[in-house]
Amino acid sequence: MKITLPVQKNEEIEVVFEDLTHDGAGVAKVDGYPLFIKNGLPGEKARIKVIKANKNYGIGRLLELYEKSPYRVDIPKEEAPKYGGCQLAHISYTGQLKYKENQVRQALARIGKIEGAHIHPIIGMDNPWHYRNKAQVPVGEKDGKLVAGFFKPRTHEILDADESVIQLPAVNEAVRAVKEICRELRIPAYDEEHHSGVLRHIMARYGRETGELMVVLITRTAELPHQKKLVDAIVSRLKQVKSIVHNVNPRRTNVILGERTKVLWGNEAIYDKIGDVKFAISALSFYQVNPVQTKVLYDKALEYAGLNGNESVIDAYCGIGTISLFLAQKARKVFGVEVVPEAIEDAKRNAALNGITNVQFEAGAAETVIPKWYEAGNKADVLVVDPPRKGCDEALLQTILEMKPKKVVYVSCNPATLARDLRILEDGGYRTVDVQPVDMFPHTTHIECVSQLILN
Ligand code: SAH
Repeated sequence: MKITLPVQKNEEIEVVFEDLTHDGAGVAKVDGYPLFIKNGLPGEKARIKVIKANKNYGIGRLLELYEKSPYRVDIPKEEAPKYGGCQLAHISYTGQLKYKENQVRQALARIGKIEGAHIHPIIGMDNPWHYRNKAQVPVGEKDGKLVAGFFKPRTHEILDADESVIQLPAVNEAVRAVKEICRELRIPAYDEEHHSGVLRHIMARYGRETGELMVVLITRTAELPHQKKLVDAIVSRLKQVKSIVHNVNPRRTNVILGERTKVLWGNEAIYDKIGDVKFAISALSFYQVNPVQTKVLYDKALEYAGLNGNESVIDAYCGIGTISLFLAQKARKVFGVEVVPEAIEDAKRNAALNGITNVQFEAGAAETVIPKWYEAGNKADVLVVDPPRKGCDEALLQTILEMKPKKVVYVSCNPATLARDLRILEDGGYRTVDVQPVDMFPHTTHIECVSQLILN
């Protein structure tokens, strides 16, 4: 049976946007049929062209705006390169916060059917610009010149950018200087299409509290041309540099880092501090990118854990032990588990670095290690989870329901999987008390939350 859709491909129509999707596109409806249109904002009236009409939804392109949202920000075309990677740059910061809080409320209500929880207003940044402590900039060649910046959305074309509005000034400066040095030394850029050339990415990482800088040069080839001159120039131009690392990624892939790293100059890691805890960060380790909001997030997690010093705590998905070490200051004992063995090595080193002895780390999947601990009689009073976007493994949630810790603190970077997992925990006897969204990634569509659940 052929179904008749309310719109046809290539048709031009007038719409009013009602909502935004989780990836920031405008939503308009024609007789209940949803159309997703990039760059449209709720309340705006526009003329659009239908470019795809699927069975359940359509995609459109914005042609002309008749009425603008009070939250709309116009970015002059010549400034666009500075906003690379900022999917929400066309929305004012107040509008972005409203959007993110709303996404959390909608996901919890629609997906999780969560009713009694107190969803707090999102905690935004006082200054939401220049916050990122890390940049990974793709390198290419255009008209015979080395360029580095970001990929033009949905293409493989690299747009040259000398500055990003979301990176810390020291990170911008590092990327700019390294790019200039590579141009001067005529280091060949990587050519993605032919999988030839040398320099693929420039990465810079900066410890905001310590002022220590790391530069990572990622190449296709095992050899880095003009290595000595390059290193000397970086050291003389960037006074804060403490570590220069060479990473080799010979594969045809869009994964940035390869497995092999070699320290070319200085230390293997740089240091940073969150609150009173010091961390060593090596080139391959995961480390939160927004240091200001990380402190806000971890403080909230600690508050929700409500520790008095006698508890046994499990930190699942612990990474380099950041949350574990934060919790250890207030708990009797913390057990951290993480699937990447190198991260566990970092976590152990970080515990030693801070003289923290009431922590124990184990490498492995949370859904395998925690049931094993539980069988051996290790029961947590408080359990913290901070899973990747896909959320917690079902087996881990079942173990939590059997173990029955008094409290669960759930740190999430995806409201949809958070809502799904909260439903499972609620059905098993927990109650979601508080949900606190924290804006860790201003101007992008990413949404972070921390939630507190207690056993009924
Ligand atoms: N809590 C840390 C890291 C959070 S990121 C911090 O705030 O810095 C999520 C972490 O979960 C990553 O380090 C990832 O390697 C890890 N991970 C992914 N799947 C896992 C699993 N099944 N079991 C344990 N850890 C996992």
